[in-house]
Amino acid sequence: MKITLVGAAGGEVTGSCYIVQTEQARILVDCGLFQGGKKSEALNRPPTAANRTVDAVLLTHGHLDHTGRLPLLAKMGYTGPVFGTPATLDMTGLILRDSARLQVADNERKNRKRMRAGEPPEEPLYTPDDVEKILSQLRPVPYQKEFAAAPGIKAIWHDAGHMLGSASIQLVVEEEGKTKRVVFSGDLGPRSAPILREFEPFQQADLVFLESTYGGRDHRSFAETVKEFERIVIDAVNRGGKMLVPTFAVGRAQLITLLLGQMFRAGKVKPFPIFLDSPMAIEATNIYVKYSDLFDDEMKAFIRDRPLRADLKTMKPTPTADESRAINDVRGACLVMAGAGMCNGGRILHHLRANLWKPSTHVLIVGYQGQGSLGRRLVDGEKEVKIFGEKIAVKATIHTLGGFSAHAG
Ligand code: ZN
Repeated sequence: MKITLVGAAGGEVTGSCYIVQTEQARILVDCGLFQGGKKSEALNRPPTAANRTVDAVLLTHGHLDHTGRLPLLAKMGYTGPVFGTPATLDMTGLILRDSARLQVADNERKNRKRMRAGEPPEEPLYTPDDVEKILSQLRPVPYQKEFAAAPGIKAIWHDAGHMLGSASIQLVVEEEGKTKRVVFSGDLGPRSAPILREFEPFQQADLVFLESTYGGRDHRSFAETVKEFERIVIDAVNRGGKMLVPTFAVGRAQLITLLLGQMFRAGKVKPFPIFLDSPMAIEATNIYVKYSDLFDDEMKAFIRDRPLRADLKTMKPTPTADESRAINDVRGACLVMAGAGMCNGGRILHHLRANLWKPSTHVLIVGYQGQGSLGRRLVDGEKEVKIFGEKIAVKATIHTLGGFSAHAG
């Protein structure tokens, strides 16, 4: 068996992809997109040459840095199966469709620039058609059950506690009369986070590929971070302030929704208007509801007592642009969740432009902010930022909550 790392290696943390080659078969584990700047994005080619066979693709979870190059496989003619847990496949559909929309829009913008420069237009990396093609090749696999993935290769998916449907994968490879076990951890979630079950380690392996996003340090305790979040919310509500929460559509938005529901149910604060201002987060939440059997015992008990919906009567999804704009006119305490998570695009920019200059505004940073992003500049305490080319004074209070990571420390 030969294993080649063709992503998330050699100085790159995105683009996760392994090629596993045996005498009988050749498979990929994950097929992620390179993200985070021009240099990384230039690496977005198919992970394998068009004339090499691939028998199967195995997915650990749905995040773009683990699935985002799948449409390139369809584009070069791959017609084989893509295996993942049912929730992972739903998340993959949501995330890849969004990715194709962004690729096309981004390419149109670049083409306008190219044409002004007298250069020929270029094709986008992939289109919604390429995405639909690969989505038709998705095949669900159960957790915990050995599954024949390719000739001579069985695979077992175990919960990884990182996002809905996420898994670590153990390959059981038969070659020359010997059996070898290789574990790909995928991304692992933290131990004490709510909603999802904890990761479930494999007991045996000859070789382990372990994610190490926070390999060098641990996070602040989750319970402490929740307490801090509650303190900020109660304080902002008492002062009648607007709370802006830049969130990733999958994971963080559902966590914040749960924390608010729990506060309301416990009577810690009187219910106030909450806006889920992200079509993608709304869809992701629907996928969570569909797979509530994957929740941990605590979360199951919490929603068995009373549906979360009953606590969140003041929460309003705002899928359309008009509904989103109308949030500007809301007076008094309210909370808005909108993307992008690092404030480098999306509806959150409109809310930040309209509210950052007001001292009564609170911005709650609940996720990782990459270098050079607007979110990072706010965390770093800049007193003035530019949004849509306009100078905006930062008079709002910026709170950074460091303990909500979806990666284990
Ligand atoms: Zn991930």
